[in-house]
Amino acid sequence: MKREFAVIGLGRFGGSICRELSMEGMEVMAIDHDEDKVNEYKNIASHAVIADSTDEASLKELGIKNIDHVIVAIGDNIQASILTTVILTDLGIKKITVKAQNDRHEKILNKIGADQVVHPERDMGKRIAHSIISNNILDY
Ligand code: ATP
Repeated sequence: MKREFAVIGLGRFGGSICRELSMEGMEVMAIDHDEDKVNEYKNIASHAVIADSTDEASLKELGIKNIDHVIVAIGDNIQASILTTVILTDLGIKKITVKAQNDRHEKILNKIGADQVVHPERDMGKRIAHSIISNNILDY
């Protein structure tokens, strides 16, 4: 059976995850409270729905409980990101990946039961720094 994913928050990060998973043939439910964002993903994701992820009833209605892996890609609104993560852990979602905005946010996400916390700008900065170093070594 195909694994099912949900991406909450369709900004640059969440949108890119949603596109890649869809291109790899995964079932993806794209969720955002902004109608324009949702419309952008109508033809990309398997389902694209308008919902506020801080509303437990809405997430339940979407059948989020049956999703194998949920990615929370809400950045700026740390409160919404934390509340969404708490709801997902309470619902017993098997795997939850959350984008952290800063170190304190990351710490809280780990405490409330996120399985994986990512910090895209920091992680990408590290990777690029390492790749610059290894390219420079090869250049000598
Ligand atoms: P990026 O850098 O990836 O573009 P960002 O870190 O600036 O994103 P935001 O713009 O804060 O993050 O949020 C990403 C998306 O999450 C936005 O499209 C926003 O509409 C959506 N979003 C924020 N709060 C909620 C919510 N409570 N429910 C659903 N979607 C939400």
